[in-house]
Amino acid sequence: VQTDRFQETLLEKDDQYVWHAMRPHSPKASIVAEKAEGSWVTDVDGRRYLDAMAGLWCVNIGYGRTELADAAYEQLKQMAYFPLSQSHVPAIKLAEKLNQMLEDEYVIFYSNSGSEANETAFKIARQYHQQRGEHNRYKIVSRYRAYHGNSMGALAATGQAQRKFKYEPLAPGFIHVSPPDSYRDDTNVADPRELASVKEIDQTMTWELSETIATMIMEPIITGGGVIVPPEGYMKAAKEVCEKHGALLIVDEVICGFGRTGKPFGFMNYGVKPDIITMAKGITSAYLPLSATAVRKEIYEAFKGSEEYDYFRHVNTFGGNPAACAVALKNLELMEKENLFERSRELGEKLINDLQNKLQDHPYVGNVRGKGLLVGIELVKDKASKEPLAVGLVNQVIASCKENGVIIGKNGATVAGYNNVLTLAPPLSIEEKDLNFLVNTLTEALNKIK
Ligand code: PMP
Repeated sequence: VQTDRFQETLLEKDDQYVWHAMRPHSPKASIVAEKAEGSWVTDVDGRRYLDAMAGLWCVNIGYGRTELADAAYEQLKQMAYFPLSQSHVPAIKLAEKLNQMLEDEYVIFYSNSGSEANETAFKIARQYHQQRGEHNRYKIVSRYRAYHGNSMGALAATGQAQRKFKYEPLAPGFIHVSPPDSYRDDTNVADPRELASVKEIDQTMTWELSETIATMIMEPIITGGGVIVPPEGYMKAAKEVCEKHGALLIVDEVICGFGRTGKPFGFMNYGVKPDIITMAKGITSAYLPLSATAVRKEIYEAFKGSEEYDYFRHVNTFGGNPAACAVALKNLELMEKENLFERSRELGEKLINDLQNKLQDHPYVGNVRGKGLLVGIELVKDKASKEPLAVGLVNQVIASCKENGVIIGKNGATVAGYNNVLTLAPPLSIEEKDLNFLVNTLTEALNKIK
């Protein structure tokens, strides 16, 4: 019989041996998870939680899909590994499938994590310009508040100082601009090219000298920085500015991709054609690690005919391993068959509507926003000043949800106290009754701090 003591014993060991992500050493972890099914996770003592964050925004198809486990098992038995300096069947099939989903011609470079996919993109962008004789183009523009990964380049692209300052110097050549904030900024302009955030990209690229800029990276919607949804037209206008300065546009779809925003990819909401697309998390719904950097065919072509020392000198041992590719293929096949991208759009609209209706009079709920099953609820001290709510109160809401069996997230940045956005990103397969449970539990938790 499993008792509370069971979890307690494990937690003592956990505290002794495991160094956790994104948590101070104390207090201890509160969930030791053991199994999961659909949208629900069960801990070692049998307590159940609705996982309204799909793990770390990644279990898009939901937990417990034996088809994905079988795909991994069959592939591991048949051939566990072969390097992609040659090729293998699952890597080819998945690249073809991704091309079909991207609705254009892209060539795929595989890695294992979002950070690596972004590092790969930066190197391809820099070398692309070199291949064409533009040797000064090395600078990479990214946006404050965004997160792009934990490695020295991806972290340099990240725009959240609290994650960076202890590890500097990071990779040089990264420059930041402000993202559009539809809640706090005046984004009410007739032409998106007039948005302050778009003009800032243009000015930055001008003053830094166009001929030094290699690329800009952006998420369609900034996720980890607090679900910052851009005004209509922003992404298209930003892409035009990049083109004007000869810079490539990398779109980070690590979270937004694979249905999270109600489309196969987040950029598809905004009518742009990215030069490079990075993806991870939802590609396998987290059943195995895999990431990909999709590169527009013309960019790939520029590398053709390279001599011994100047082809793309980049290797990733486990990237695109056969089992992970087989799982991704099965995951994408099932998500399409079960219409999960469309389901994300429909359920997301309903979820945002329900939350807006229920919470509009709540004194601390400044803004409910999102696209698809990617939702942010920005908490403020005062609706007029929009001053962020103290993090202690935000944490109380999260703790109260957890006590009542719902896991939600908190995002933003500790810089300037912007750690005030509750985030929801449940599996795209979540049942409607579970969404109602989520809305009710969250509303009760928020009402407790009124
Ligand atoms: N880009 C974005 C937008 C992310 O949210 C993340 C991870 N949360 C990454 C990149 C890095 O991915 P990974 O942790 O797999 O390296």
